[in-house]
Amino acid sequence: MSQTSVRPDAALEQPYAYRRVELVEPDWRRLPGFRDVTAAEWADVQWQRAHCVKNIKQLRALMGDLVDDRFYADLERDQAERATMSMLVPPQMVNTMVPTGPADSQTWTEAFYADPVRNYMLPVFSERRTDWPSHPHATRDSLHEHDMWVAEGLTHRYPTKVLAELLPTCPQYCGHCTRMDLVGNSTPVIDKLKFDLKPVDRYDAMIDYLRRSPGVRDVVVSGGDVANMPFKNLEAFVARLLDIENIRDIRLATKALMGLPQHWLQDDVRAGMERLSTVARARGVHLAIHTHVNNAASVTPLVADATKAMLEAGVRDVRNQGVLMQGVNATPKDLLDLCFALLDGAGIMPYYFYMCDMIPFSEHWRVSVKEAQRLQHGIMGYLPGFATPRIICDVPFVGKRWVHQIEDYDDVRGISYWTKNYRTGIESTDPDALDRRYEYYDPIHTLPEAGQAWWREHGPSVDHAAASDRAKASRTAAGESVEEQSALLPS
Ligand code: SF4
Repeated sequence: MSQTSVRPDAALEQPYAYRRVELVEPDWRRLPGFRDVTAAEWADVQWQRAHCVKNIKQLRALMGDLVDDRFYADLERDQAERATMSMLVPPQMVNTMVPTGPADSQTWTEAFYADPVRNYMLPVFSERRTDWPSHPHATRDSLHEHDMWVAEGLTHRYPTKVLAELLPTCPQYCGHCTRMDLVGNSTPVIDKLKFDLKPVDRYDAMIDYLRRSPGVRDVVVSGGDVANMPFKNLEAFVARLLDIENIRDIRLATKALMGLPQHWLQDDVRAGMERLSTVARARGVHLAIHTHVNNAASVTPLVADATKAMLEAGVRDVRNQGVLMQGVNATPKDLLDLCFALLDGAGIMPYYFYMCDMIPFSEHWRVSVKEAQRLQHGIMGYLPGFATPRIICDVPFVGKRWVHQIEDYDDVRGISYWTKNYRTGIESTDPDALDRRYEYYDPIHTLPEAGQAWWREHGPSVDHAAASDRAKASRTAAGESVEEQSALLPS
Protein backbone atom coordinates (compact mmCIF):
# COMPACT_ATOMS: atom_id res chain seq x y z
CA MET A 1 0.00 0.00 0.00
CA SER A 2 1.39 3.40 -0.84
CA GLN A 3 1.87 5.99 1.87
CA THR A 4 -0.60 8.37 0.26
CA SER A 5 -3.43 5.87 0.51
CA VAL A 6 -3.22 5.86 4.34
CA ARG A 7 -2.93 9.61 4.73
CA PRO A 8 -5.93 10.89 6.71
CA ASP A 9 -8.09 13.58 5.14
CA ALA A 10 -7.68 16.05 7.99
CA ALA A 11 -4.19 17.35 8.67
CA LEU A 12 -2.78 16.05 11.93
CA GLU A 13 -1.63 18.49 14.56
CA GLN A 14 2.03 19.25 14.89
CA PRO A 15 3.62 18.25 18.19
CA TYR A 16 4.13 21.98 18.78
CA ALA A 17 1.62 24.55 17.52
CA TYR A 18 3.33 27.88 16.89
CA ARG A 19 1.33 31.01 17.37
CA ARG A 20 2.55 34.55 17.71
CA VAL A 21 1.97 35.81 21.23
CA GLU A 22 1.92 39.51 22.13
CA LEU A 23 3.97 40.31 25.21
CA VAL A 24 2.05 41.58 28.22
CA GLU A 25 3.21 43.38 31.35
CA PRO A 26 1.06 41.78 34.06
CA ASP A 27 -0.94 44.28 36.14
CA TRP A 28 1.05 44.57 39.38
CA ARG A 29 -1.95 46.13 41.12
CA ARG A 30 -3.50 42.63 41.41
CA LEU A 31 -0.99 42.02 44.25
CA PRO A 32 -2.16 43.64 47.51
CA GLY A 33 1.21 45.18 48.34
CA PHE A 34 1.50 46.81 44.89
CA ARG A 35 -2.08 48.08 44.73
CA ASP A 36 -1.11 51.75 44.85
CA VAL A 37 2.12 51.57 42.88
CA THR A 38 2.15 54.00 39.96
CA ALA A 39 3.57 53.36 36.49
CA ALA A 40 6.28 55.96 37.19
CA GLU A 41 7.34 54.11 40.35
CA TRP A 42 7.33 50.82 38.50
CA ALA A 43 9.64 52.22 35.83
CA ASP A 44 12.04 53.60 38.45
CA VAL A 45 15.02 51.32 39.05
CA GLN A 46 15.57 52.71 42.56
CA TRP A 47 11.96 51.96 43.47
CA GLN A 48 12.40 48.42 42.11
CA ARG A 49 15.60 47.85 44.08
CA ALA A 50 14.09 49.26 47.27
CA HIS A 51 11.04 47.00 47.02
CA CYS A 52 12.72 43.67 46.34
CA VAL A 53 11.42 40.74 48.35
CA LYS A 54 14.24 39.73 50.69
CA ASN A 55 12.44 37.75 53.36
CA ILE A 56 9.21 36.00 54.19
CA LYS A 57 7.82 38.99 56.09
CA GLN A 58 8.13 41.13 52.97
CA LEU A 59 6.56 38.43 50.82
CA ARG A 60 3.63 38.22 53.24
CA ALA A 61 3.23 41.99 53.18
CA LEU A 62 3.14 41.89 49.39
CA MET A 63 0.87 38.90 48.86
CA GLY A 64 -1.43 39.53 51.84
CA ASP A 65 -3.86 36.68 52.37
CA LEU A 66 -3.67 35.48 48.78
CA VAL A 67 -1.25 32.72 49.76
CA ASP A 68 -1.84 30.27 52.63
CA ASP A 69 0.37 29.94 55.69
CA ARG A 70 1.49 26.50 54.56
CA PHE A 71 3.37 28.06 51.66
CA TYR A 72 5.23 30.49 53.94
CA ALA A 73 6.08 27.64 56.36
CA ASP A 74 7.37 25.58 53.42
CA LEU A 75 9.50 28.50 52.24
CA GLU A 76 10.79 29.18 55.75
CA ARG A 77 11.89 25.58 56.20
CA ASP A 78 13.65 25.68 52.86
CA GLN A 79 15.49 28.86 53.83
CA ALA A 80 16.64 27.22 57.05
CA GLU A 81 17.58 23.77 55.77
CA ARG A 82 18.14 23.75 52.03
CA ALA A 83 18.53 27.12 50.35
CA THR A 84 21.95 27.75 48.85
CA MET A 85 20.93 31.30 47.84
CA SER A 86 19.39 34.01 49.97
CA MET A 87 16.07 35.51 48.93
CA LEU A 88 16.12 38.48 46.56
CA VAL A 89 13.33 38.95 44.01
CA PRO A 90 12.72 42.31 42.32
CA PRO A 91 9.08 43.43 41.93
CA GLN A 92 9.49 43.00 38.16
CA MET A 93 10.04 39.26 38.67
CA VAL A 94 7.44 38.80 41.40
CA ASN A 95 4.95 40.35 39.00
CA THR A 96 5.54 37.60 36.44
CA MET A 97 4.44 34.93 38.93
CA VAL A 98 0.80 33.86 38.41
CA PRO A 99 0.54 36.70 35.89
CA THR A 100 -3.20 36.53 35.28
CA GLY A 101 -4.32 35.20 38.64
CA PRO A 102 -5.26 31.58 39.34
CA ALA A 103 -6.91 29.43 36.66
CA ASP A 104 -10.48 28.19 37.13
CA SER A 105 -10.94 26.00 40.21
CA GLN A 106 -7.39 26.81 41.35
CA THR A 107 -6.55 28.80 44.45
CA TRP A 108 -3.81 31.43 44.61
CA THR A 109 -1.76 29.08 46.77
CA GLU A 110 -1.99 26.26 44.22
CA ALA A 111 -1.23 28.64 41.38
CA PHE A 112 1.76 30.01 43.29
CA TYR A 113 3.06 26.51 43.92
CA ALA A 114 2.62 25.64 40.23
CA ASP A 115 4.25 28.81 38.92
CA PRO A 116 7.54 28.25 37.04
CA VAL A 117 9.16 31.56 38.01
CA ARG A 118 8.22 31.13 41.67
CA ASN A 119 9.61 27.58 41.45
CA TYR A 120 13.21 28.66 41.04
CA MET A 121 13.15 32.14 42.59
CA LEU A 122 11.32 31.14 45.79
CA PRO A 123 12.15 27.45 46.20
CA VAL A 124 10.25 25.55 48.89
CA PHE A 125 11.22 22.56 51.02
CA SER A 126 8.41 20.28 49.82
CA GLU A 127 9.70 20.40 46.24
CA ARG A 128 13.24 19.27 47.06
CA ARG A 129 13.98 15.55 46.88
CA THR A 130 14.00 13.75 50.21
CA ASP A 131 15.63 10.55 48.89
CA TRP A 132 18.63 12.23 47.29
CA PRO A 133 18.38 15.97 47.91
CA SER A 134 21.96 16.27 46.65
CA HIS A 135 23.82 13.96 44.32
CA PRO A 136 26.78 12.27 46.05
CA HIS A 137 29.03 14.06 43.57
CA ALA A 138 27.45 17.48 44.06
CA THR A 139 29.93 20.17 45.01
CA ARG A 140 29.74 23.82 45.93
CA ASP A 141 31.86 24.90 43.00
CA SER A 142 30.52 22.27 40.67
CA LEU A 143 32.37 23.55 37.61
CA HIS A 144 35.62 23.94 39.53
CA GLU A 145 35.96 27.47 38.32
CA HIS A 146 38.07 28.50 41.32
CA ASP A 147 40.56 25.77 40.51
CA MET A 148 41.09 27.51 37.20
CA TRP A 149 41.46 31.05 38.50
CA VAL A 150 44.53 32.63 36.96
CA ALA A 151 43.86 35.81 38.89
CA GLU A 152 41.23 36.20 41.59
CA GLY A 153 37.85 35.83 39.87
CA LEU A 154 39.34 35.16 36.41
CA THR A 155 38.68 31.60 35.23
CA HIS A 156 40.75 30.38 32.30
CA ARG A 157 39.10 27.10 31.33
CA TYR A 158 39.06 27.15 27.54
CA PRO A 159 42.06 27.94 25.37
CA THR A 160 40.75 31.17 23.85
CA LYS A 161 38.25 32.52 26.37
CA VAL A 162 38.03 33.54 29.98
CA LEU A 163 35.33 34.29 32.52
CA ALA A 164 35.82 37.44 34.60
CA GLU A 165 33.76 37.40 37.78
CA LEU A 166 33.80 41.09 38.62
CA LEU A 167 31.51 41.04 41.63
CA PRO A 168 29.70 38.52 43.83
CA THR A 169 26.21 40.05 43.83
CA CYS A 170 23.14 40.29 41.57
CA PRO A 171 19.89 42.28 41.65
CA GLN A 172 18.11 38.92 41.93
CA TYR A 173 19.14 35.58 43.39
CA CYS A 174 18.13 32.38 41.60
CA GLY A 175 17.66 29.28 43.74
CA HIS A 176 19.69 27.12 41.37
CA CYS A 177 22.66 29.46 40.93
CA THR A 178 25.73 27.58 39.72
CA ARG A 179 27.99 30.10 41.45
CA MET A 180 26.23 29.58 44.78
CA ASP A 181 29.65 29.12 46.33
CA LEU A 182 30.55 32.75 45.75
CA VAL A 183 27.46 34.71 44.76
CA GLY A 184 25.07 36.30 47.24
CA ASN A 185 24.80 36.36 51.00
CA SER A 186 25.55 33.34 53.14
CA THR A 187 22.56 31.19 54.05
CA PRO A 188 22.12 28.91 57.08
CA VAL A 189 23.37 26.07 54.84
CA ILE A 190 26.16 27.75 52.85
CA ASP A 191 28.88 30.09 54.01
CA LYS A 192 29.90 31.99 50.92
CA LEU A 193 33.42 32.29 49.70
CA LYS A 194 34.68 35.88 49.83
CA PHE A 195 37.05 37.60 47.44
CA ASP A 196 40.27 38.60 49.18
CA LEU A 197 41.33 41.45 46.95
CA LYS A 198 39.71 44.86 46.73
CA PRO A 199 37.74 45.23 43.48
CA VAL A 200 40.22 47.68 42.00
CA ASP A 201 43.16 45.31 42.65
CA ARG A 202 41.21 42.35 41.35
CA TYR A 203 40.38 44.14 38.11
CA ASP A 204 44.01 45.25 37.71
CA ALA A 205 45.19 41.65 38.11
CA MET A 206 42.68 40.45 35.50
CA ILE A 207 43.68 43.09 32.98
CA ASP A 208 47.33 42.37 33.62
CA TYR A 209 46.79 38.65 32.90
CA LEU A 210 44.87 39.40 29.72
CA ARG A 211 47.56 41.76 28.48
CA ARG A 212 50.05 38.93 28.94
CA SER A 213 47.83 36.33 27.23
CA PRO A 214 47.64 36.88 23.47
CA GLY A 215 45.85 33.53 23.03
CA VAL A 216 42.76 34.84 24.78
CA ARG A 217 40.31 36.57 22.43
CA ASP A 218 36.99 36.33 24.27
CA VAL A 219 36.00 37.64 27.71
CA VAL A 220 32.74 36.91 29.49
CA VAL A 221 32.29 39.80 31.91
CA SER A 222 30.15 38.39 34.64
CA GLY A 223 29.71 37.95 38.37
CA GLY A 224 27.20 37.96 39.83
CA ASP A 225 25.46 40.29 37.47
CA VAL A 226 27.15 43.30 35.91
CA ALA A 227 23.97 45.33 36.54
CA ASN A 228 25.07 45.54 40.18
CA MET A 229 28.28 47.37 39.30
CA PRO A 230 28.22 51.16 39.30
CA PHE A 231 28.05 51.72 35.56
CA LYS A 232 31.14 53.93 35.49
CA ASN A 233 33.18 51.05 36.97
CA LEU A 234 31.81 48.58 34.42
CA GLU A 235 32.49 51.05 31.62
CA ALA A 236 36.04 51.60 32.83
CA PHE A 237 36.72 47.84 32.93
CA VAL A 238 35.23 47.19 29.48
CA ALA A 239 37.13 50.17 28.08
CA ARG A 240 40.37 48.60 29.34
CA LEU A 241 39.42 45.32 27.66
CA LEU A 242 38.78 47.19 24.42
CA ASP A 243 42.33 48.49 24.60
CA ILE A 244 43.79 44.97 24.53
CA GLU A 245 44.54 44.09 20.94
CA ASN A 246 43.82 40.34 21.21
CA ILE A 247 40.32 40.72 22.72
CA ARG A 248 37.77 40.34 19.91
CA ASP A 249 34.61 39.30 21.78
CA ILE A 250 33.22 40.78 24.98
CA ARG A 251 30.02 39.46 26.48
CA LEU A 252 28.34 41.19 29.39
CA ALA A 253 26.35 38.76 31.55
CA THR A 254 23.21 40.18 33.09
CA LYS A 255 20.06 38.42 34.11
CA ALA A 256 18.84 41.88 35.15
CA LEU A 257 17.97 42.58 31.53
CA MET A 258 14.95 40.44 32.41
CA GLY A 259 14.85 40.66 36.22
CA LEU A 260 15.41 44.42 36.44
CA PRO A 261 15.06 45.82 32.90
CA GLN A 262 14.63 49.25 34.48
CA HIS A 263 18.40 49.23 35.08
CA TRP A 264 19.24 48.94 31.39
CA LEU A 265 16.65 51.58 30.50
CA GLN A 266 18.35 54.33 32.54
CA ASP A 267 19.62 57.24 30.46
CA ASP A 268 23.17 57.10 31.81
CA VAL A 269 23.41 53.35 31.22
CA ARG A 270 22.13 53.68 27.67
CA ALA A 271 24.54 56.52 26.96
CA GLY A 272 27.42 54.55 28.45
CA MET A 273 26.59 51.45 26.44
CA GLU A 274 26.49 53.60 23.32
CA ARG A 275 29.99 54.92 24.08
CA LEU A 276 31.32 51.39 24.59
CA SER A 277 29.57 50.04 21.49
CA THR A 278 30.95 52.85 19.35
CA VAL A 279 34.51 52.09 20.41
CA ALA A 280 33.93 48.35 20.04
CA ARG A 281 32.67 48.75 16.49
CA ALA A 282 35.53 51.05 15.54
CA ARG A 283 37.98 48.43 16.77
CA GLY A 284 36.18 45.46 15.22
CA VAL A 285 35.27 43.98 18.63
CA HIS A 286 31.93 42.24 19.16
CA LEU A 287 30.27 43.59 22.29
CA ALA A 288 27.19 41.57 23.22
CA ILE A 289 24.86 41.06 26.16
CA HIS A 290 24.09 37.60 27.48
CA THR A 291 21.02 37.27 29.62
CA HIS A 292 19.35 34.45 31.51
CA VAL A 293 15.62 33.87 31.00
CA ASN A 294 14.08 30.54 31.95
CA ASN A 295 10.40 30.85 31.15
CA ALA A 296 8.25 32.72 28.62
CA ALA A 297 6.32 34.37 31.46
CA SER A 298 9.39 36.47 32.22
CA VAL A 299 9.50 38.07 28.76
CA THR A 300 7.43 41.24 29.11
CA PRO A 301 7.27 44.51 27.15
CA LEU A 302 9.74 46.11 29.59
CA VAL A 303 12.24 43.34 28.84
CA ALA A 304 11.69 43.99 25.13
CA ASP A 305 12.20 47.73 25.69
CA ALA A 306 15.47 47.17 27.55
CA THR A 307 16.70 44.83 24.81
CA LYS A 308 15.76 47.33 22.12
CA ALA A 309 17.58 50.06 24.05
CA MET A 310 20.75 47.96 24.11
CA LEU A 311 20.52 47.07 20.42
CA GLU A 312 19.94 50.75 19.61
CA ALA A 313 22.94 51.61 21.76
CA GLY A 314 24.91 49.46 19.32
CA VAL A 315 25.61 46.13 21.02
CA ARG A 316 26.02 43.45 18.42
CA ASP A 317 23.49 41.05 19.90
CA VAL A 318 21.50 40.11 22.97
CA ARG A 319 21.50 36.36 23.59
CA ASN A 320 19.82 34.11 26.10
CA GLN A 321 21.39 31.35 28.15
CA GLY A 322 18.61 29.68 30.09
CA VAL A 323 18.85 26.83 32.55
CA LEU A 324 16.90 23.66 31.96
CA MET A 325 14.91 22.79 35.07
CA GLN A 326 12.13 20.44 35.99
CA GLY A 327 9.12 22.47 37.08
CA VAL A 328 10.35 25.55 35.22
CA ASN A 329 10.75 24.74 31.53
CA ALA A 330 11.66 21.09 30.93
CA THR A 331 9.20 20.34 28.14
CA PRO A 332 9.56 21.03 24.41
CA LYS A 333 6.52 23.31 24.58
CA ASP A 334 7.89 25.41 27.43
CA LEU A 335 11.27 25.72 25.75
CA LEU A 336 9.78 26.66 22.40
CA ASP A 337 7.29 29.10 23.96
CA LEU A 338 10.24 30.78 25.65
CA CYS A 339 12.38 30.85 22.50
CA PHE A 340 9.58 32.38 20.42
CA ALA A 341 8.77 34.95 23.12
CA LEU A 342 12.46 35.92 23.18
CA LEU A 343 12.86 36.00 19.42
CA ASP A 344 9.52 37.38 18.21
CA GLY A 345 8.71 39.56 21.18
CA ALA A 346 11.98 40.89 22.47
CA GLY A 347 14.61 40.42 19.75
CA ILE A 348 16.70 38.23 22.06
CA MET A 349 18.56 35.36 20.41
CA PRO A 350 17.98 31.93 21.99
CA TYR A 351 21.47 30.54 22.40
CA TYR A 352 21.93 27.87 25.07
CA PHE A 353 19.99 25.93 27.63
CA TYR A 354 22.32 24.59 30.27
CA MET A 355 21.48 21.50 32.21
CA CYS A 356 21.21 22.55 35.86
CA ASP A 357 24.60 21.93 37.46
CA MET A 358 25.39 19.43 40.21
CA ILE A 359 25.28 21.82 43.14
CA PRO A 360 23.88 20.76 46.53
CA PHE A 361 20.11 20.39 46.76
CA SER A 362 19.46 20.75 43.05
CA GLU A 363 18.28 17.20 42.34
CA HIS A 364 14.61 18.11 42.02
CA TRP A 365 15.48 20.53 39.21
CA ARG A 366 17.99 18.42 37.32
CA VAL A 367 17.12 16.19 34.37
CA SER A 368 19.07 13.22 33.03
CA VAL A 369 21.26 13.47 29.95
CA LYS A 370 18.83 11.15 28.20
CA GLU A 371 15.96 13.52 28.95
CA ALA A 372 18.02 16.49 27.81
CA GLN A 373 18.67 14.69 24.51
CA ARG A 374 14.93 14.09 24.13
CA LEU A 375 14.26 17.78 24.75
CA GLN A 376 16.86 18.80 22.19
CA HIS A 377 15.16 16.53 19.67
CA GLY A 378 11.77 17.99 20.62
CA ILE A 379 12.75 21.57 19.84
CA MET A 380 14.52 20.96 16.53
CA GLY A 381 12.96 22.24 13.33
CA TYR A 382 10.66 24.97 14.65
CA LEU A 383 13.04 27.87 15.10
CA PRO A 384 15.42 29.26 12.52
CA GLY A 385 18.64 27.26 12.68
CA PHE A 386 20.61 30.25 13.94
CA ALA A 387 18.14 30.67 16.81
CA THR A 388 17.77 27.01 17.77
CA PRO A 389 19.43 26.73 21.17
CA ARG A 390 21.77 23.90 21.96
CA ILE A 391 21.13 22.07 25.20
CA ILE A 392 24.43 21.94 27.00
CA CYS A 393 25.91 19.83 29.75
CA ASP A 394 28.67 21.70 31.56
CA VAL A 395 30.85 18.73 32.41
CA PRO A 396 33.16 19.24 35.39
CA PHE A 397 36.78 19.63 34.25
CA VAL A 398 35.67 19.52 30.60
CA GLY A 399 33.41 22.48 29.86
CA LYS A 400 30.34 22.93 27.75
CA ARG A 401 29.39 19.91 25.64
CA TRP A 402 26.31 19.55 23.49
CA VAL A 403 24.19 16.78 25.06
CA HIS A 404 24.61 14.54 22.03
CA GLN A 405 28.39 14.58 22.35
CA ILE A 406 28.59 11.84 24.98
CA GLU A 407 31.35 9.33 24.49
CA ASP A 408 29.59 6.60 26.44
CA TYR A 409 26.58 6.29 28.73
CA ASP A 410 25.65 3.90 31.51
CA ASP A 411 22.00 4.83 31.66
CA VAL A 412 21.27 2.39 34.48
CA ARG A 413 23.62 4.10 36.92
CA GLY A 414 23.15 7.41 35.15
CA ILE A 415 26.81 7.99 34.43
CA SER A 416 27.75 9.63 31.16
CA TYR A 417 31.33 9.81 29.92
CA TRP A 418 32.77 12.78 28.07
CA THR A 419 36.05 13.72 26.47
CA LYS A 420 37.57 16.99 25.46
CA ASN A 421 39.74 18.40 22.74
CA TYR A 422 41.67 21.06 24.68
CA ARG A 423 43.50 21.39 27.94
CA THR A 424 41.93 23.55 30.61
CA GLY A 425 44.02 26.02 32.55
CA ILE A 426 45.06 23.42 35.15
CA GLU A 427 46.22 20.77 32.66
CA SER A 428 48.91 22.51 30.71
CA THR A 429 51.42 19.83 31.76
CA ASP A 430 49.04 16.86 31.86
CA PRO A 431 49.82 14.51 28.93
CA ASP A 432 46.67 12.42 29.57
CA ALA A 433 44.10 15.21 29.71
CA LEU A 434 42.86 14.63 26.17
CA ASP A 435 42.59 10.86 26.52
CA ARG A 436 40.82 10.83 29.87
CA ARG A 437 37.09 10.25 30.18
CA TYR A 438 35.21 12.59 32.50
CA GLU A 439 32.00 11.66 34.26
CA TYR A 440 28.69 13.41 34.66
CA TYR A 441 25.85 12.05 36.79
CA ASP A 442 22.12 11.90 36.19
CA PRO A 443 19.76 12.53 39.13
CA ILE A 444 19.43 9.21 40.94
CA HIS A 445 15.64 9.37 41.24
CA THR A 446 15.37 9.30 37.43
CA LEU A 447 17.23 5.96 37.16
CA PRO A 448 15.70 2.50 36.83
CA GLU A 449 15.43 0.56 40.10
CA ALA A 450 18.68 -1.34 39.46
CA GLY A 451 20.56 1.94 39.16
CA GLN A 452 18.95 3.43 42.25
CA ALA A 453 19.83 0.28 44.21
CA TRP A 454 23.45 0.60 43.06
CA TRP A 455 23.64 4.15 44.35
CA ARG A 456 22.00 3.18 47.64
CA GLU A 457 24.74 0.60 48.07
CA HIS A 458 27.66 2.62 46.75
CA GLY A 459 26.52 6.21 47.05
CA PRO A 460 27.82 7.08 50.50
CA SER A 461 31.18 5.42 49.88
CA VAL A 462 31.34 7.12 46.51
CA ASP A 463 30.87 10.38 48.43
CA HIS A 464 34.17 9.94 50.07
CA ALA A 465 35.80 8.49 47.02
CA ALA A 466 34.47 11.57 45.38
CA ALA A 467 36.54 13.49 47.83
CA SER A 468 38.91 12.68 45.03
CA ASP A 469 41.87 14.83 44.30
CA ARG A 470 39.84 16.99 41.98
CA ALA A 471 37.00 17.73 44.35
CA LYS A 472 39.39 18.10 47.24
CA ALA A 473 41.29 20.73 45.34
CA SER A 474 38.05 22.59 44.78
CA ARG A 475 37.04 22.48 48.41
CA THR A 476 40.42 23.59 49.57
CA ALA A 477 40.26 26.49 47.18
CA ALA A 478 36.87 27.36 48.61
CA GLY A 479 38.24 27.19 52.15
CA GLU A 480 35.73 24.51 53.05
CA SER A 481 36.36 21.45 55.17
CA VAL A 482 35.59 17.91 54.08
CA GLU A 483 33.20 17.68 57.05
CA GLU A 484 31.25 20.68 55.81
CA GLN A 485 30.97 19.14 52.37
CA SER A 486 29.82 15.79 53.71
CA ALA A 487 27.12 17.55 55.69
CA LEU A 488 25.48 18.39 52.37
CA LEU A 489 25.24 14.80 51.28
CA PRO A 490 22.42 12.39 52.03
CA SER A 491 22.96 10.27 55.08
S1 SF4 B 1 21.60 36.00 38.10
FE1 SF4 B 1 23.08 34.41 37.55
S2 SF4 B 1 24.78 34.72 38.99
FE2 SF4 B 1 22.99 35.83 39.82
S3 SF4 B 1 21.99 34.37 41.18
FE3 SF4 B 1 21.01 34.15 39.18
S4 SF4 B 1 22.14 32.48 38.20
FE4 SF4 B 1 23.42 33.23 39.90
